[in-house]
Amino acid sequence: MKKTIEVKNLSVHYYGDIALENVSFSMNEGNIIGVVGPNGAGKSTLMKALLGLVKFDGEVSIFGQRVNELRKNIAYVPQRSTIDWDFPILVEDAVLMGRYMHIPWYKKTAKKDREKAEKALEQVGMESFRKKQIGELSGGQQQRVFIARALAQDADLFFLDEPFVGIDVNSEEIIVNLLKQLREQGKTIFVIHHDLSKVETYFDELLMLNQRLIGAGPVKEIFNPQILKQAYGGNAAVISSDKEMVVVGP
Ligand code: ADP
Repeated sequence: MKKTIEVKNLSVHYYGDIALENVSFSMNEGNIIGVVGPNGAGKSTLMKALLGLVKFDGEVSIFGQRVNELRKNIAYVPQRSTIDWDFPILVEDAVLMGRYMHIPWYKKTAKKDREKAEKALEQVGMESFRKKQIGELSGGQQQRVFIARALAQDADLFFLDEPFVGIDVNSEEIIVNLLKQLREQGKTIFVIHHDLSKVETYFDELLMLNQRLIGAGPVKEIFNPQILKQAYGGNAAVISSDKEMVVVGP
């Protein structure tokens, strides 16, 4: 299997405070990778560093290249809470924005771009909302529109920051099924996630973080009480898929 993401000695500081310290790992292509760890563990910071959105020390290579050389090939869905949902834009135009990095600034969107955006809207079951303002949608519908925007980009790597927060069960199911379809097509999906009860069903590989890397590898190897305790201290209680109760800490 080919490596998608390779990270060596990655550190990030914000005004002198350490957010990530000496993180090294590599991840295989064609997997759904979960990034978990307590609040403030540096999960979003890691994603932003991989995307070249924050300054870092160390080395990051994606498909053997630097991120600036393959930006078109990475689709990013930021946390819903960081998006201005009052911004006046129609659903169909928000999705079409996923095509912009493929279109030179001096050209208009072509029929092919509009078709890709339309297909992406259909894939998330939002085609009948195309003329609505994004602010009129529910949380789950908004998230599906942003997933459609990422799909329209035709990327090989998808970065999603907490995609399931504040959304309905139906939207979550649609998104999870889509991510699995993308994996079948050989895409790599990198997901920040905080609900430990879903880890075993959603992810193939896991990165466990708490400022430094606690564990990285297949979920079966990483998702265990010892590693969870190192990441969460006494604050995690997990029910594993075989219904055996695993309680970590007091
Ligand atoms: P997580 O996503 O795991 O909750 P973050 O990556 O958001 O963690 O944050 C890691 C640490 O870095 C936290 O202590 C947070 O307060 C700090 N931090 C995050 N973004 C900034 C920023 N832009 N400026 C200063 N500190 C930040």
